[in-house]
Amino acid sequence: MWKRKLTELYFSQSALAVYQQCRLKFRRRYLDGLYWPQNWYGSSAQQQAIEQGQLFHRLAQRYYARGEVLPARLLPEKVAGWFQRLRDFRPYNQLDLFRPEQELRVNTGGIKLVAKFDLLYINQSKQQVLIYDWKTNDRPLGGGNWSQKLQTIVYLYVLAQAGRPYFPGNKLSGEDLSLIYWNPRFPGQLITVRYSKEMLQQNRNFLKSKLTEIKALPYEEFRATDKQAVCRRCEYRPLCHGQGADYLELVDDDELEAELNWEEIDQLHY
Ligand code: SF4
Repeated sequence: MWKRKLTELYFSQSALAVYQQCRLKFRRRYLDGLYWPQNWYGSSAQQQAIEQGQLFHRLAQRYYARGEVLPARLLPEKVAGWFQRLRDFRPYNQLDLFRPEQELRVNTGGIKLVAKFDLLYINQSKQQVLIYDWKTNDRPLGGGNWSQKLQTIVYLYVLAQAGRPYFPGNKLSGEDLSLIYWNPRFPGQLITVRYSKEMLQQNRNFLKSKLTEIKALPYEEFRATDKQAVCRRCEYRPLCHGQGADYLELVDDDELEAELNWEEIDQLHY
């Protein structure tokens, strides 16, 4: 049964991140089906942050779907401010193609992936295809190599492989694709990762080897991490250690939905 689940699984960036953190956590969530909704635990401040982030994403989705703007008086003050900044940052128009909450799948060459983008934006005149990812946590985006993040690797690979129907004239190459991270709390900060043929090849090698490794693992080898810092932020801590998590990491809800909702996903094979 678990083998079948593993074979059928479309890996998201969240699934790969969970595997990197703790193989047992991956097993519990994806093979044993012990899914805990994000809001089952956590402080009220954390719950509020999650709800604000979810509301912001819903507003962004409706705005880019049809230009809909909810009046600020109907929104919590903080979220209304974020929404205004979003409209200043990436205004909607009717000339370009906006695809909010776009889901794509890849299933080729032993690489089976799913990604759900906050916004896929196609500028026909500039021949640009951009993924936007909205962050709403209270930390600035910070340094580090963003091109090496699992989210970047999965998103750009999936777009390069499965996004061809959205490319102007069906002709874009890897170099025309970019991923932009942006947080309305820090509107002046922007992280842009531009794709390249070299990155595409590197990512393909990495993903193939990682997925092959996971699929070859016997059930009992999905072992617990020995890093207590990881356990302290894990929803399965009561099962493993008999006590609740100190703090739950804010995972991307859209990603979790993408893992669980197979009905509405564009399935594209190349
Ligand atoms: S509590 Fe620790 S060992 Fe248990 S699943 Fe979570 S991260 Fe893994």
